[in-house]
Amino acid sequence: MPKILFNPEVLKHKPKFYHVENPERVKIILENLKSKGYNDIILMTEKSTIDEILKIHDKEYVETIINLSNLNFTYYDTDTYICKDTLDAALSAFKMSKDAVKLSLKNKDLYFVLTRPPGHHAGISGRALGAPSNGFCIFNNICGSAYLLKKFMKKVIIIDFDVHHGNGTQEIFWNDEDIIHIDFHQKGIYPGTGDIFDLGGDNARGTKINLPFKSHSTDSDYIYAWIEIVDPILKYFKPKIVLVSSGFDAYMNDGLASIDLTETFYKFAGYKLSKYSVVSVLEGGYGIGLKYGPVSFLEGYEKLNIEEDKYIFPSEDTKLMVNTVKNVISEYLDIF
Ligand SMILES: [Zn+2]
Repeated sequence: MPKILFNPEVLKHKPKFYHVENPERVKIILENLKSKGYNDIILMTEKSTIDEILKIHDKEYVETIINLSNLNFTYYDTDTYICKDTLDAALSAFKMSKDAVKLSLKNKDLYFVLTRPPGHHAGISGRALGAPSNGFCIFNNICGSAYLLKKFMKKVIIIDFDVHHGNGTQEIFWNDEDIIHIDFHQKGIYPGTGDIFDLGGDNARGTKINLPFKSHSTDSDYIYAWIEIVDPILKYFKPKIVLVSSGFDAYMNDGLASIDLTETFYKFAGYKLSKYSVVSVLEGGYGIGLKYGPVSFLEGYEKLNIEEDKYIFPSEDTKLMVNTVKNVISEYLDIF
């Protein structure tokens, strides 16, 4: 039975005025998971220390966050608010992301971590790779998971299916050949990064794999790309544990993006990962995807067997994108 990691501290990161990234998001996920019988909630209470954060982010950035959290309410940038409890919420989220890795090493299961504020846009010093903002993110939680997992595994695989490119994650591990980061995202939207030809630094080329999809791509497009790209990579590296930056904003009608996924993709992704221990760290998701995405992901992991063939009708754009990725990556990884 998948486990849900939750620390009520994450609800204290609150906007002063309406903001799409708000505590209701986690409440909606929790409510829907519980209503489907996913009641195995592990209540977490600890926070990471500042030293743990400094393994991922630089001192100046962390000090800025600490200082801004001392104000009553302010903005790090036009998108990203900071209230008096933001630092505690972010330290709690970071800690849960690491603790989930420890649990996943002990027992094979899916550990669904309810992190807020999200993390994958936060780079070494905040804004990553020229992005206009931190995109609601404070500390990069999935990088905390990956940093810890590296101590136990030769290669770490991060799959990011949030609709936005995980530019912070890519920047932080750009030169790390042991981190394979596969990123599904909508092309041309915030943060504007995630090009197919961004492959990693000199010694890490081919370990950063970007899959930019056209707007209104569907389950079929995502499933096709997963079968063609993700499956062979998992088969090749045979990880015991897979890390997932799980945003649910690629679900249709999200409001912040325009990819048209349904429950089918999330069930499929869960099913495909059911062989492995999974640490799933929450990123974005602002619409009905919060209601249906996590439940589908857990259901897929637990029991669903999807008839793959039924869903493989990718668009010509997706086929071209996937073929280009395979050609480019095959120069560095002997997989495709
Ligand atoms: Zn997102």
